[in-house]
Amino acid sequence: MNYQVLLYYNYTTIADPEEFAKDHLAFCKALNLKGRILVAHEGINGTLSGTIEDTEKYMEAMKADARFSDTFFKIDPSEGHAFKKMFVRARPELVSLKLEEDVDPKEITGAYLSPKEFKEAILDEDTVVIDARNDYEYDLGHFRGAVRPDIRSFRELPEWMQAHKEEFMEKRVVTYCTGGIRCEKFSGWLVREGFKNVGQLHGGIATYGKDPEVQGELWDGKMYVFDERIAVDINQVDKQIVGKDWFDGTPCERYINCGNPECNRQFLTSVENEEKHLGSCSVACAQHPQNRYIKEHQLTSEEIEAKLSVFA
Ligand SMILES: [Zn+2]
Repeated sequence: MNYQVLLYYNYTTIADPEEFAKDHLAFCKALNLKGRILVAHEGINGTLSGTIEDTEKYMEAMKADARFSDTFFKIDPSEGHAFKKMFVRARPELVSLKLEEDVDPKEITGAYLSPKEFKEAILDEDTVVIDARNDYEYDLGHFRGAVRPDIRSFRELPEWMQAHKEEFMEKRVVTYCTGGIRCEKFSGWLVREGFKNVGQLHGGIATYGKDPEVQGELWDGKMYVFDERIAVDINQVDKQIVGKDWFDGTPCERYINCGNPECNRQFLTSVENEEKHLGSCSVACAQHPQNRYIKEHQLTSEEIEAKLSVFA
């Protein structure tokens, strides 16, 4: 374990995101780091991998910069890089909730809950716990009893909450996401909408899993991460699998992308079922002329026909 994976964000002001991104990319490359960093006027959000020495140098340099001095870095030991390349990109916003009027978490956001306070909230019957992530992230793992909004992308959350306002308005609402950045904005929006008692898991699931007191308890399954590891463990107390195979519903924590490049849906399935179904989420995707699985495995037309007949 000579490497580390860093996950961090900071809502701060970056005057010229384009210029900053260019310089920051050069800086990261000089430190042999790999990963993905988004930069906007409203701040920075990054996940990086590198040797312990290089990542320590990066954190030191960030903390020496007044704009980022209070950044909290979540650190995971790793056996190697978790990314293939290094990207730094300027974006209009770090987190998009498709709002007409954006939320500035520096001005308005939900109450920060420590892992211990969040665990108490999960156990409290009068508190609603809302998962502020995408559906495929929830399906791999989530807090026990958390609400899974019926949406594909967390960008649709405000719309979904508005439709369920009556249900949640008078209750205490707490939210969580991977590292906390999405909840800063989403919980701020909830406060602005008039929800009375709004909380967010400070530091996200990543922090909750490392907390020495709660040790990830009441988390079921794995946490989806946006790097080559795809899934990481959180619960150190009573780990359970909640992921289900797309085809037969058996317990599964293995993600693939649909072989149809135009679909690209992420779903959980075993190696065996992936082979049986030509690496695709549906018969239509399996028959797509650009199917990557068929190309990569150089299947003959007889082999394809045989598999399709079983699939359909
Ligand atoms: Zn598909």
